[in-house]
Amino acid sequence: MPNIALVAHDAMKAEIVDWASHHKSRLVGHNIYATGTTGGRLQDDAGLNVERLLSGPLGGDAQLGAMIAEKRLDALIFFIDPLSALPHDVDVKSLLRLAILYNTPLAVNRSTATALVRHLQNKD
Ligand code: PGA
Repeated sequence: MPNIALVAHDAMKAEIVDWASHHKSRLVGHNIYATGTTGGRLQDDAGLNVERLLSGPLGGDAQLGAMIAEKRLDALIFFIDPLSALPHDVDVKSLLRLAILYNTPLAVNRSTATALVRHLQNKD
């Protein structure tokens, strides 16, 4: 099964839960990794089975970056907050840089996330 990661900044967590609930049938066919707080919300509020990493600001984004560099992640869905300054901006930047460097399929908002999971489903 492909490994995909779901991450959302705090202001975007309700949206990723809503999006994941809507696309649950597409997501269940994947191993889902998530940063700590996002993963907790996806488990509790969307009923998804999630492998939770550290919270993003405490190293979870860095863990996902390492997974990409080790070619252990097939896609990254990252609901980025476009309106807030974040203390762990360097980690976010590093994660996005690695996703670009390794040509990892990357979605950063609801419409691209939908396009990506549809694409992954058609590949199966
Ligand atoms: P969180 O991390 O899911 O632990 O909140 C996400 C982030 O802010 O990178």
